[in-house]
Amino acid sequence: MNTARKQFFKDFKKKMNQFKLMVACNACGRRPEQGENIDDWKINKESENIDLLCTDCFENEEVWNNEVQTNL
Ligand SMILES: [Zn+2]
Repeated sequence: MNTARKQFFKDFKKKMNQFKLMVACNACGRRPEQGENIDDWKINKESENIDLLCTDCFENEEVWNNEVQTNL
């Protein structure tokens, strides 16, 4: 692995760690608990900001989709 690549992965890891610290539910402000899989959380990727809803704050896929569409 060359140096530029190494540096890239170093920076990438740092950014991911910062991202994880930023992660919190948009509605209730709750952060994922340790070991909680935020793959289950809802992320609105269309949004400029990271719109994230924890599993407590969205009812189901349908509700979430309506939400996303009305915000577009
Ligand atoms: Zn929440």
